Amino acid sequence: MALFSFARKPTPSSSEGSPKPFAFFRAGLSPQGMTANKPILVFENVFKFFKRDQPTLKDINFTVERGEFVFVTGPSGAGKSTLIQLVHRRQTVDEGRILFCGRDISRLTADSIPYLRRNLGIVFQDFKVVNHWTVFENVAIALEILEMPVRLVRSRVAEALERVGLKGKGEQITGTLSGGEQQRVAVARAIVTEPALLLADEPTGNLDPALALDILTLFEEIHATGTTVLFATHDHTLLEQRPHRIVYIDDGNLKEARRGLSDWKRNPVEPTQSHAIAARSRTEDSTALTPIERGFAPTFG
Ligand code: ADP
Repeated sequence: MALFSFARKPTPSSSEGSPKPFAFFRAGLSPQGMTANKPILVFENVFKFFKRDQPTLKDINFTVERGEFVFVTGPSGAGKSTLIQLVHRRQTVDEGRILFCGRDISRLTADSIPYLRRNLGIVFQDFKVVNHWTVFENVAIALEILEMPVRLVRSRVAEALERVGLKGKGEQITGTLSGGEQQRVAVARAIVTEPALLLADEPTGNLDPALALDILTLFEEIHATGTTVLFATHDHTLLEQRPHRIVYIDDGNLKEARRGLSDWKRNPVEPTQSHAIAARSRTEDSTALTPIERGFAPTFG
């Protein structure tokens, strides 16, 4: 039963017998070994073309450090979703590379992609919950595909539901909940595996302004426990209320501001080649793999 294209069980690998990759990334714990020193995400000279000679993303360079909360914003059609989809490998980079925990994920084999996704939580605009399943079932699926023991699934799901404010609602049919509650179910499913990086693609796009702010606050609470967040939104009212770093995409180009919109108005920064060079020098040693990295990309290379 595949909920998403990525909800399939990774094939057995040479990492069998070692701890599950996601376990190393539990929020609040320091990842072991070399990955701890690496930025969680690096885009290096990334291009994406849907039409020949008209790149949707043009020479994108930016770095997300562990523990950051980053807004990705820009007008509709600018390429925000595409940028997020390149990270969870729904789309593939045409030029350049993307490093996740120091590993190049832009050229992972299809077999390795589920291992990458074990380390990501993803929340979409349209929730992507199964309406006729209970709240518990919608969250538990993320652990069941990892073959986690039932007892642990129960306790982890209960913990995740409490974190998103849905304590005691596990037995409710998801379709009977409000839109805001359904998005909370989706957030619980995204965080129940305690991912290293939480991706959100317009997660408030289907919600009214008050609920949108509630959901943003929920992401901030999760961020406060140690999870890195990349939050794509075109909604300026959210950006106006929170001084997080902004990565702004327009016509495929990227600009950024470190501390919210007021900083943006004073001093938008256009990343230059030097950003890319700096990013590359930090990640030069990415061919030396830790067990964690071998775990999520067993057939890579
Ligand atoms: P945003 O999220 O900023 O609204 P998108 O990333 O969804 O923008 O889209 C950026 C551009 O890429 C748009 O012109 C869109 O039509 C195009 N695009 C996105 N996905 C595809 C696809 N799968 N095939 C062809 N074109 C696409």
